[in-house]
Amino acid sequence: MMNIKHMLEDSNRYLMNTYNRAPIVLRKGRGTRVWDINGNEYIDFLGGVSVNVLGHCHPKIVIALQKQAQRLIHVSNLYNIEPQIELAKVLVELSFADQVFFCNSGAEANEAAIKLARKYAKEHHGDYKIEIITATNSFHGRTITTLSATGQDKLKKGFEPLTPGFVNVEFNNIEDLASAVSENTCAVLLEPIQGEGGVRPATVEYLKEARKICSDNDVLLILDEVQTGIGRTGKLFAYEHYEIEPDIMTLGKGLGGGVPIGAMLAKKDIASSFVPGSHGSTFGGNPLVCASALATIEAIMEDGILLEECNRLGEYMKKRLTELKKEFPSLILHVRGKGLLIGVEINRDCGPIVEECLKRGFLINCTAGSTLRFAPPLIVSEHEIDKLIDVLDEMFGRLQ
Ligand SMILES: *Cc1c(COP(=O)(O)O)cnc(C)c1O
Repeated sequence: MMNIKHMLEDSNRYLMNTYNRAPIVLRKGRGTRVWDINGNEYIDFLGGVSVNVLGHCHPKIVIALQKQAQRLIHVSNLYNIEPQIELAKVLVELSFADQVFFCNSGAEANEAAIKLARKYAKEHHGDYKIEIITATNSFHGRTITTLSATGQDKLKKGFEPLTPGFVNVEFNNIEDLASAVSENTCAVLLEPIQGEGGVRPATVEYLKEARKICSDNDVLLILDEVQTGIGRTGKLFAYEHYEIEPDIMTLGKGLGGGVPIGAMLAKKDIASSFVPGSHGSTFGGNPLVCASALATIEAIMEDGILLEECNRLGEYMKKRLTELKKEFPSLILHVRGKGLLIGVEINRDCGPIVEECLKRGFLINCTAGSTLRFAPPLIVSEHEIDKLIDVLDEMFGRLQ
């Protein structure tokens, strides 16, 4: 067996340097816990970046994957695929949408949404209607086009020329959005809560007004629920908190229970703009990933109290964090989020706090430079939250 030092050396040697990886090698996970190759245990408050809604290696997901792997792993979309049909049906029944397109990641789901919106707008209005409005601080993916949609200049640097046709407006500023809409506007693409942008929720008024502006101007509203979807915010989809429905929605992260899958959902009249040849994906919606996603959604819905628990635990965690904010008012600037997608903005780079948490047995992460992000499995316990709060309390005490 290789030791940790050799593994980290090989990691640096053989993998491209695209991530700031913590110096541990994870081997095993169960529920809210993961273990590294030296047997150290961590409580996972990041959940694979909003992926592991049901925790690690949930038995229903493991069994679904084992069964499907024995039956059929891949055949291509030139044939009908049982678990893909079932998954699409479940997603449609549980959402505003009528039809689904499957792909392999959040970025691909947004690519599909952008392609569908453009095709629909051209067919129904004209070739001029191509512009897509997105928000400052948004994150929609790393492909050239989803990066073009993303409202963070630092991520775009070095990759120009980007895809034309994207306009950026200030997030949560309805006047800015209203004045950016023109007859050229094809769609407005927004996250209900900006995850990578620092866990910033859209206000209810903002999304409601955005919906209205879109409807009044023949503009499609696309919600990027790649991070907020699949129970993360205490509803199956975050738009349910806002009493609105989008025209198109994208999913990724939590959908597959840990396997790579993305989905783009739309109303029928919009979805109809895709015909054979319009779009596709070799692996998109393959039997294995769909079986896993189906097991994930079924487990969430069968649970009955998981989403309520997500709300209750999220409120509890925010209450405890708000207490910390009162204790350290100069250090902690904001506590934000919904359900179990929570951000704590501090007055400095949060990298050292993430490192210290790792040493103390907690996986957390830092987003937008100075926001600590928590996205634990929805099965996290109050006791585990208390343990993390104790560690943060002590660390903030030393920093203040
Ligand atoms: C993570 C994320 C993406 C990109 O998903 P990938 O699977 O990494 O391509 C897109 N949009 C949002 C809101 C995300 O959080």
